[in-house]
Amino acid sequence: MALWKCSKCGATKDARCKPRKCPECGEAGTMVKEEAQAETSQKKGCGSKRSCKKKAS
Ligand SMILES: [Zn+2]
Repeated sequence: MALWKCSKCGATKDARCKPRKCPECGEAGTMVKEEAQAETSQKKGCGSKRSCKKKAS
C-alpha cells in the first residue's frame, strides 16, 4: 500500500491506488504520494538519512 497526502489540507490516506479526491476536504486532484513507506523498505541499517554516510572503514 502507499500513503497519500492531500497537498491542500494535509490529510493522509492509505490506498493502493491514488484517491481521486481528498477524504477530508473533498478537493479533487490534491492527493500526492508520500514516499515514507517506500523509504522504510529501502533502508539498510541506516537510522537516518543525514547520519548515513559512507564509512571508509
Ligand atoms: Zn484535503
